[in-house]
Amino acid sequence: MSSAEGARPVVSHPAFRRLPPVHEVLQQPELAGVRAARGRATVLRTVRAALAEARELLARGEAPPVDPSSLARRATSLLMAERPSLRPVINASGVLLHTGLGRAPLAEEAVRAVAAVARGYCNLEFDLARNERGQRTAGVAELLARLTGAEAATVVNNNAGATVLSLRALASGREVIVSRGQLVEIGGSFRLPEIFEVSGAKLREVGTTNRTRLSDYERAIGPDTAALLRVHTSNYRIVGFTEDVPIAGLCALARERGIQAIDDVGSGALRPGQPPHISGEPTIAEGLAAGADLVLASGDKLLGGPQCGLIIGSHEAVTRVERDPLMRALRVDKLTLAALEATLRLALDPDLASRRIPLWAFLSASADSLGARSATLAERFRSELALDATVEATHAFLGGGSVPAEALPSSGVRVAPPCSAANLNEGEWAALLRSGDPPVVPRVHRGSVLIDLRAVPESNDVHLFEAVRRAADWARTGSP
Ligand SMILES: *Cc1c(COP(=O)(O)O)cnc(C)c1O
Repeated sequence: MSSAEGARPVVSHPAFRRLPPVHEVLQQPELAGVRAARGRATVLRTVRAALAEARELLARGEAPPVDPSSLARRATSLLMAERPSLRPVINASGVLLHTGLGRAPLAEEAVRAVAAVARGYCNLEFDLARNERGQRTAGVAELLARLTGAEAATVVNNNAGATVLSLRALASGREVIVSRGQLVEIGGSFRLPEIFEVSGAKLREVGTTNRTRLSDYERAIGPDTAALLRVHTSNYRIVGFTEDVPIAGLCALARERGIQAIDDVGSGALRPGQPPHISGEPTIAEGLAAGADLVLASGDKLLGGPQCGLIIGSHEAVTRVERDPLMRALRVDKLTLAALEATLRLALDPDLASRRIPLWAFLSASADSLGARSATLAERFRSELALDATVEATHAFLGGGSVPAEALPSSGVRVAPPCSAANLNEGEWAALLRSGDPPVVPRVHRGSVLIDLRAVPESNDVHLFEAVRRAADWARTGSP
């Protein structure tokens, strides 16, 4: 932003004298509507931006329109082009829990619950019947207990927070034993050894990368040992000559030696089949049934809820966690709790959840139904937009640090840039789609752009079509 209102620019160009003063542009009737809607300060800022832009063009010897009315219109369009930095996008990447795209979308019921408590006050920590202080997580704790068979539960900001807090509450200053095969790094910043450092618990590694036996844990347990920790290797698999100890074996050993067992299942599947069509992921219910004192999981992975960390387990262990001063720093707000409670209520009925929780619905969609939608879209791309578009059987992935190896059969449309814009390569064509409204994030695969429908709700197909239409027009005309 350059010179202030009324002040003369330090380096004066003769052509600048043709520019009207700021107040004259501000008085233009074109700006009355936006001033009422957006306020005087915002309009003033954009008028200055329009003047600065004109000044720059004049300095380069160009001849932009400089009458007050044109500048006012230019200011209005600059204002209209301003978009919030956080915007909804269409996830056509085929990665269902894409961390870059905000992981799990929320169910409509969760969205409504968030809106209902966001607008006004709510009984976040207030017992309405007794007129006394209530427990912030009481409602979701009861639902989590019902869904998983646990005695108790609490919720924090995310699973990284749940891990730090649990290690601190149960094992600060003492040792926790972990297999060398489970020293995970998730998403670049969750690195188990560093999580340990922050928590104050001491990491005691046992076994080797590919093989850890019960006897390794047995030998490592000493007077300083507070717990055994199993960490799900969410984003990698160790295959070949391998051995690890099932959670039931770890829990039995912990019980026998009078120490705690913690199970970080990561992905947050409630029990086998919930969500559907996922196999080989540890579940919260199984960890608890095996006897873990605490099971830790993310709320925005396979549960399909808001970002949060679930801490579920025995009454005693959960109480220790809740009493830790760090709990206050990691606690969740009313919006998260509202979204989580609504998601958990849906999960009480797995059939309903498979239709209403978007992630569960994405997992439940048949490849045939995705194929039919792909065929409809491809046909419209060809006939209405004259694009070279073909249906393709694809593979979608869970992503977000879950089930690395498992590919879900999916379907999509391979769509080439418009032929009149044949100089566009696949990267540039994808970039146009990403900068559209709404942005579409496709996959660039084998030299072209692939739109995968596995993570696109059917109701978004019309928006997807319009977004591709605008990107194609843009590619053809060279301007949005
Ligand atoms: C994803 C994951 C985490 C981190 O969870 P966030 O909710 O992203 O903080 C921790 N442990 C495991 C095993 C995970 O899969």
